This record gives sequence, structure tokens and C-alpha cells, in this order.
Amino acid sequence: MLLKARLEHDTVYGRCLATSEAVERGELVVEELPFAYGPKRESGIVCLGCYRYLQFGEDGDSLDRCELCDWPLCGNCADDASSDHRGECQVFGTARVTFAGNVGEDGVCPQLDCITPLRVLLAKEAQPERWLNEVAPMEHHEEARRENADIWHADRVNIAQYLRGPCKLAERFSEELIMQVVGVLEVNAFEARTINGYPLRCLYPYTGILAHNCVPNTARSIHPSEGYKVRLRAMVDLEAGQQLQHSYTYTLDGTVQRQAHLQQGKYFRCSCKRCLDASELQTHFSSLKCGQCTEGWLLPKQPTALESSWQCNACDNTTSSQDVREIVENLQAEVNGVQALEMGAKRLEESERLLRKYKSLLHPSHYIATGLRQLLIEMYGRVQGYEMVQLSDQLLERKSSLCRKVLRVLNVFEPGLSRSRAMNLYELHVPLVLLAKNGFIAGTLSGGELRARLVDAIDLLKECVDILQHEDHDSQEGILCGVAKQALEQLTLSVEGLGSELD
Ligand SMILES: [Zn+2]
Ligand SMILES: [Zn+2]
Ligand SMILES: [Zn+2]
Ligand SMILES: [Zn+2]
Repeated sequence: MLLKARLEHDTVYGRCLATSEAVERGELVVEELPFAYGPKRESGIVCLGCYRYLQFGEDGDSLDRCELCDWPLCGNCADDASSDHRGECQVFGTARVTFAGNVGEDGVCPQLDCITPLRVLLAKEAQPERWLNEVAPMEHHEEARRENADIWHADRVNIAQYLRGPCKLAERFSEELIMQVVGVLEVNAFEARTINGYPLRCLYPYTGILAHNCVPNTARSIHPSEGYKVRLRAMVDLEAGQQLQHSYTYTLDGTVQRQAHLQQGKYFRCSCKRCLDASELQTHFSSLKCGQCTEGWLLPKQPTALESSWQCNACDNTTSSQDVREIVENLQAEVNGVQALEMGAKRLEESERLLRKYKSLLHPSHYIATGLRQLLIEMYGRVQGYEMVQLSDQLLERKSSLCRKVLRVLNVFEPGLSRSRAMNLYELHVPLVLLAKNGFIAGTLSGGELRARLVDAIDLLKECVDILQHEDHDSQEGILCGVAKQALEQLTLSVEGLGSELD
């Protein structure tokens, strides 16, 4: 349902949404149920009711299956008459198509690729009006998808011909319609998580058509316990008639990575302010240190062109996109290696080592450095040898400085109501409180100073709760919100306690 939004036409994005009136940060603009949802594309074998991973046993066939149709279904979902699986169950049962369960080396089970498109087709029959008004007009980029002949062919065989042939749906659904649905899902659907954290994809007719921007102005929360209802809110204050935008790529990737993802996966070239600015809004999120001079940074000449050469902003040094890509890929491979290490002191120390090493190669705010900081923030206070009570004041300072640096970048790319900001605000409050208490105990902070620092920490927690209060209570973010609320109460009590002592 459009609450404070209306349909609009954009020359680049086609159908999209804009605010219908001025909207304040946090206000709800769209709320809707998915038209259909189901397993992700290229999924492994999952239960078709709850999307948990299922496996064949060693005997080759102890997979949990639906008694009616033989397709994968876990024991819990078998007795659930309202399970998501009921629609296709009838189709498979009637046509007597069995589940072969062939899985490729990549763990992908292509036979399951038909499930979500089939659910959309069944929903079309059940809700013809909604299909006509909301889903049929959605973009499906047929031409661009046809250009990728291998994928187009695989979809035709595994989905369209499979549904029309073995599943005996040829009279209900044309090949053209099925390929349209496959495209609509590919272009517009996005990932959600079940209450237990398993991924699935959902098709939202309005939320799915939001225009893209690498600095989004809306935040969405999906509520698995309410049938995957999505709520879209303004991330920042918006004027009437302002286009609603979401990021369809990872905001903490550099421009080259975001463009590659958008051009290959979403079939368009983004030309938002951030993409057109080589410095990415003065953050230098992709800038490399110049090898020829001491103070310069290498920036792409044409940031949105993947093959653009890079130029120093202080001397006349230029480098090819190829060379830049090589440097960045090598560093990224090193980071991935560290990321794959077991959670522990070694992983933390290696991350610190890389961050030091990259000082001579990358701008301090480069996304690779920012990614390492994000890893470190998660580890300081949690891994063995670096648990919160074990951290010296120096390491507490380290953790808080890491949080501040990441927040500085997030404030530019995800201002306002951003989950990542909320997480980092929470992470930042802990070392601040401990440092303040340690300082007071050591006599370096007065009672008044202690109180002022705790009030700062309270403000961080308030903003964290303000952002996360809209999340589903059972989600990871919802749970963190509860934790932050408790911390907020305790801290408020201790500050009140301090007040009376100091007076
Ligand atoms: Zn299940
Ligand atoms: Zn079944
Ligand atoms: Zn962009
Ligand atoms: Zn230079």
C-alpha cells in the first residue's frame, strides 16, 4: 500500500515512487505484502516450507520429502496445512513430477529454480487484479537478458520448458509469460530472511520498483512474522515530490564494484552524485595512494566507466584501470584470506597487520580499509584474548576510534536511519562507557566528566534504538535493539545515581 508515496515516471528508471507529501525521517511511506516469495535463485536443496537447508543422507536418499509430491520438505513443515509449499505441491502431485535433487559442484540445485516463478504464476491466477495493476507493468529487461545467452537458455530449459512440459502447465502459462516472470523476479525481487535466518527472495510490487541511488534515502524492514510484510521508511527528512530511492548494491563497495554489479546484474549504469564524483563525495572511498608523489591520490578520470584510467590529483601520474584492478584484487584476496580465518586472536591481529600494511597503498578511508575496520570492530571485545574486560585503555581507545572512522563514512553514504550506523553506534558506546569508568576510578576524570561521558554514550544508544525500533523483533537487528534498550536503561539509572552523589 502506498502511504505517503505516489507512482511516478522517471526517464531512466521507468515506473518509480516519489513522496506524495513532506515526510520526516523514520516515517512510513510504503507498506505491503509480497506478491509471492520462495527460494533464492541458485539455491541449494532447501525445505520448501521454511527454507532450511536439507541434505541427502549417506544412503543417497534420506532427504526429508513431502509425502504428497516427493519434493523437499522438512518434518516440521510436513504437517503444516498452510505451508508455503501447498501451491506447487498440487501441481507436482497432479503431474507426478519427482524431485531428482541433482546438485552441481557449486552446491546449486537447478531443479529448484522453478519454484519461485511458479509461485508468482499461481499468485497471478489467484490475484488477477493485483497482477495486472502491480506486477505485469514491472520491468523485466528482456533484451538485456537475452544477450546473456547461456543464462537465458538455462532459464528457458530449467524453468519455462520444465513447467510447461513435465509439470503439465502448458495450457495455463505461455513460455513468454514464464520468461517475463523470471525477468521480473531477477530485476525486482530481493532477499529476505526467515525468522531462523534462512535466505529467500520476495517480490514486492511497489518496494521493488524504487529507483536506485548509491546514497539511498529510504530504509526497508521485512517482517517474517507478518507474512514478510515490508515497511519502507524515510531514512532522512524528505520534501514533497522527492524521488524515493534505495540502494540495490552494497553501499560500502567502491564505485567500480557497485557499477559492475549494477551493470551486470541490474542492467543499468548508475549516474548518481556519488558515482559521478571521483572522490565519492570527498570520502576517497576508492582512492589509492599515488606512487610518484607524496601527497597525491589516484582517482578514476571517468568514475562510471569501468575501463577509465586513473590519475593523480597532485602530479601527472596516470595508471590504467587494469593495473588498479590488479592492485585492488590482490589486496582484496589477502583480506578474504584473513576473513576466512577462524574467529580468534590470530584473525584480529592479522586484520590489524593488513590495515597497517595498506597505509602506504590506500587512502585511509578506502573501502578495503573500511572493511577491515568493520571486521576489527566486531572482534575487539568478543574474541578470546581480546574480550571486553581484557581490553586495556589503549585497546578500548582503538575500538572507539575504529567505530568513529567507519561512522564518518556511513554518515555520508547511509545518513539517518541506517542499520549499519545503528550497529556501529552500539559498538562505540561500550568502549566509551568503560573508558569513562576506568578514568574515574584512576582519578583522571572528575565526577562531572564521568557523567558527561556517560551522557554521550546514552545519546549514542538513544539513536541506535531510534533506528532499530522498526525492525522485526526476532531479527538480528531487532534483538540488538532489545539489548541496546536494556543498556540504555541501566546507563540512565547509573547517571541518575551519580547525580545524587555529586550534588
Ligand atoms: Zn521446513
Ligand atoms: Zn508437496
Ligand atoms: Zn551511484
Ligand atoms: Zn602523484
